[in-house]
Amino acid sequence: MQTIEQFNFSGKKAFVRVDFNVPLDEQLNITDDTRIQAAMPTLKKIIKDGGSVIIGTHFGRPKEVSEKLSLKHILPRISELLGVEVQFASNCVGDEAEAKAAALQPGEALLLENLRFHAEEEGKPRNLADNATDAEKEAAKKAIKESQKDFTKSLATLADVYVNDAFGTAHRAHASTALIAEYFDADHKLFGFLMQKEINAVEKVLKDTQSPFTAIMGGSKVSSKIEIINNLLDSVDNLIIAGGMSYTFAKAFGGKIGNSLVEDDKLDLAKELVEKAKEKGVNLLLGTDAKIADSFSNDAKTDFAPVKEIPDGWLGLDIGPDTIQEFVEVIKNSKTILWNGPTGVFEFENFEDGTRAVAEAIAEATSKGAFSLIGGGDSVAAINKFELADQVSYVSTGGGALLEFMEGKELPGIKAIRGY
Ligand code: AMP
Repeated sequence: MQTIEQFNFSGKKAFVRVDFNVPLDEQLNITDDTRIQAAMPTLKKIIKDGGSVIIGTHFGRPKEVSEKLSLKHILPRISELLGVEVQFASNCVGDEAEAKAAALQPGEALLLENLRFHAEEEGKPRNLADNATDAEKEAAKKAIKESQKDFTKSLATLADVYVNDAFGTAHRAHASTALIAEYFDADHKLFGFLMQKEINAVEKVLKDTQSPFTAIMGGSKVSSKIEIINNLLDSVDNLIIAGGMSYTFAKAFGGKIGNSLVEDDKLDLAKELVEKAKEKGVNLLLGTDAKIADSFSNDAKTDFAPVKEIPDGWLGLDIGPDTIQEFVEVIKNSKTILWNGPTGVFEFENFEDGTRAVAEAIAEATSKGAFSLIGGGDSVAAINKFELADQVSYVSTGGGALLEFMEGKELPGIKAIRGY
């Protein structure tokens, strides 16, 4: 497989799928350009080699063409960061895009309008009547799959090379994230730098694992993490369960959890996971004490209690000091660490201690040579809050894509390029 480091883009036109789905304020100003910055190494390398770039991205979830979700709002920022006056095609397919792509000279760049202005990008029918019959729905699905082929081909014919640098959408089998790759031979499709870094980080954790491997799963719900936990039980030495989901485990084993967050329909599942961990010889840490509050508020009255003896009317909003000590000890002695989800409601200053202690222990282990991967929206927000992002090995940019990768699933955007 070609790698972006080795590939010489000189004289080539590259279609680069990026994820520039950045947040805008009411005045349509970008409030966080991290995603644009993240793709710059790839775009700049192509320009520097003497190639030209055709940039494709989705933006929001449009159901039709919409002024608000036009990419022209972010065009100036892309030009500024790239250091090149980026041209714009007001439709990602059709005469204008084709003419502008064909006229691109080495070192030039073209941004295509929002790919999702066309239903063919996702390949799902839009505007189906509420009362559509099953037969009508089937026919609409078939029709869009057909027109998706033409759409994909139109995008592919704009370029000589396909580069995917949009890890955030790698779990989607969309036209520009996966299907397009079929139109390029193995020597003309490759991952961008960001995508490559994400893949390397996840595979280092899942495949090239140094023991002891500790996974810290926190956050609110066990239901959203179940498949990852299941997959990780085959490879971790230590599994730390924290955050809101830990109370479902406490209740499953007869604990009194007061008003703490609980998923009553997942009690059996929690028991099964504990059983499975035992069978696999995984050291499962569920915590012993909690920092409790008399309401869900930063200003609530607080106290500490054993996780299984939370009084009525109180709820656990963070792990307690004994648990912090126990978790920190295990994390500090780990060689591979995966962290997904806070240990408590870290957004409230009075309930951030556990999450902070975990973040600090991960940073310490990393400084002693451990490989640490932080992924999933809220642990990323937490590591940024505690200003420790530069003291861990890798902070993933992928939300859903990272979770599916961690669950052991094949991601269409990755498979389309390297075949697995
Ligand atoms: P998730 O998106 O599932 O990773 O959940 C992250 C959210 O879980 C954060 O916003 C936390 O505030 C929340 N959370 C963590 N611990 C608790 C808890 N003990 N009770 C309620 N919410 C929690």
